Amino acid sequence: MDNKYDIIVIGSGIGGLMSSFVLSKHGYKVCLLEKNGKLGGTLQAYKRNGRMLGTGMHYIGSLDEGQMMHNIFKYFGLFEGLQYQRMDDDGFDVFNIGGKEIKFPMGMNNYRKSMVQQFPEEEEAINQYISGLLSTVKEQDVYSLQEPSEGKNSESSFLATNAWDYICSLTNNPDLRNNMAALNFVYAGRKEVTPMYNHALINYYFISSAYRIVGNTQMIADRLASQIKSLGGTIYNRQEVNELVFDGDKLTGVKTTSGDTYFADSFISNAHPATTMGWIPEGKIKKTYRKRLTNLHDTLSAFSLHLILKPGTVKYRNFNYNFYKNSDVWYASTYDEKKWPEHYFIHWPADKLNPEYVDNVTILTHMKFEEVEKWKELPIKRRGEEYEQFKKAKAEKLLNLVSEQFPEFKENLETYYVATPLSFKDYLGTPTGSMYGTERNFERPFDSYLSHRTKIPNLFLTGQNLNLHGMLGVSLSSLITSGEFVGLKKLLKDVRESF
Ligand SMILES: Cc1cc2nc3c(=O)[nH]c(=O)nc-3n(C[C@H](O)[C@H](O)[C@H](O)COP(=O)(O)OP(=O)(O)OC[C@H]3O[C@@H](n4cnc5c(N)ncnc54)[C@H](O)[C@@H]3O)c2cc1C
Repeated sequence: MDNKYDIIVIGSGIGGLMSSFVLSKHGYKVCLLEKNGKLGGTLQAYKRNGRMLGTGMHYIGSLDEGQMMHNIFKYFGLFEGLQYQRMDDDGFDVFNIGGKEIKFPMGMNNYRKSMVQQFPEEEEAINQYISGLLSTVKEQDVYSLQEPSEGKNSESSFLATNAWDYICSLTNNPDLRNNMAALNFVYAGRKEVTPMYNHALINYYFISSAYRIVGNTQMIADRLASQIKSLGGTIYNRQEVNELVFDGDKLTGVKTTSGDTYFADSFISNAHPATTMGWIPEGKIKKTYRKRLTNLHDTLSAFSLHLILKPGTVKYRNFNYNFYKNSDVWYASTYDEKKWPEHYFIHWPADKLNPEYVDNVTILTHMKFEEVEKWKELPIKRRGEEYEQFKKAKAEKLLNLVSEQFPEFKENLETYYVATPLSFKDYLGTPTGSMYGTERNFERPFDSYLSHRTKIPNLFLTGQNLNLHGMLGVSLSSLITSGEFVGLKKLLKDVRESF
């Protein structure tokens, strides 16, 4: 049978691509099925007015030589043919919090020094905070590319500690508290639920070092895909899986909406767990398990505004700009539709190494799925005038707020494109277009961190819904999932030694 494989991977996000790479490299006959025309999930970029517009990932942490992502990128061949722009040392993320500007400098020592300079009377709290970040990272063996020791990582106290409670326990200074929590947009943090675990890993990851890809993240997806093919793997795009096929109780294949069936010994889903549950016929999985994975709470979605700018007019900035109108950095958890937008994040793409100008920028902010839900059943690109007006009104509100700080955008605007939570839902195949997949909750640590194993013995999961999102979380979950086949200890050793 031509369409019989060792392993079928469903979905070509980073998780699906990296798992397919590892398994092909280890001699498995792999078939990767992707529903979209383009591979990459949130790495996808699309062309408008001659510009490549990124849809998701903007910057990558811990990519300095000797740091963890550097080893991972080496292992996956992601330095060959690709270039990365190191962001500003003295402030790769700049925050305007209720009119006060702060910067996150790169490197934990620089970060500590800068915090102590700003809050000299709070040195002890700052030291304790940084020890908290470091010990959370250290507790997780897999973040130093070591195989988790039995039971150790799952006992992490920081899974069950609320990030904001932890910060508040260290200091009463409201500005310092905001400073410590300022980066929460990149994990869609919610004051009431986000565990210290997520906060610490993400902060450590970016503060260690921060880079942008030169070009766009589609290039990362395409590079992984071409390596998978050279290793003998098969990739089919425009193949949307909608059913898992069983022979008795054994999972043997997948069906796609185009009517094709593919068979394999094992299966890995890179799609959202609720989407994956939707493919399983009645009676093939325990109801309680299906219910649990179908009803997981998702992180908030986003509204993104891509501005197309007149070439040679708007300067490239080598940092991200995070704006909080009020002095509450937990905007996501308090966001009021009537006051929207009160927050934004700006990304200036690095088109060339050290470029002087940009011809587009991306502005992101939170948006709830409920705001666009009423249009969800309408066909893509034909959702009607009311939806178009909604998008226009939101884009203009956001542009007006951004122009208070960056008037050059409006002055040099050619046109713009937007993505709403419906766009994210459609192109990623998630239930609510969430930015970072399922939400982790410190009150329910063992429900919100999913295993890569499922109740179907030859069906596995990978991607941002497992442990952590982002390049960091997803590349690790792809190693954990692939480790199931090739041996995790040996795989992590190979990655550690890839320099
Ligand atoms: C706006 C935004 C900004 C971000 N910025 C950053 C950043 O700066 N840095 C960072 O590290 N991370 C960032 N992230 C997070 C990061 O991009 C994601 O965590 C990561 O890319 C998710 O990868 P994944 O493998 O889980 O899958 P996804 O990217 O979600 O891809 C899943 C794939 O599965 C496919 N699929 C779904 N259903 C089916 C089906 N039925 N059949 C076949 N295929 C299917 C989808 O089409 C998609 O290609 C950002 C995310 C967003 C949304």
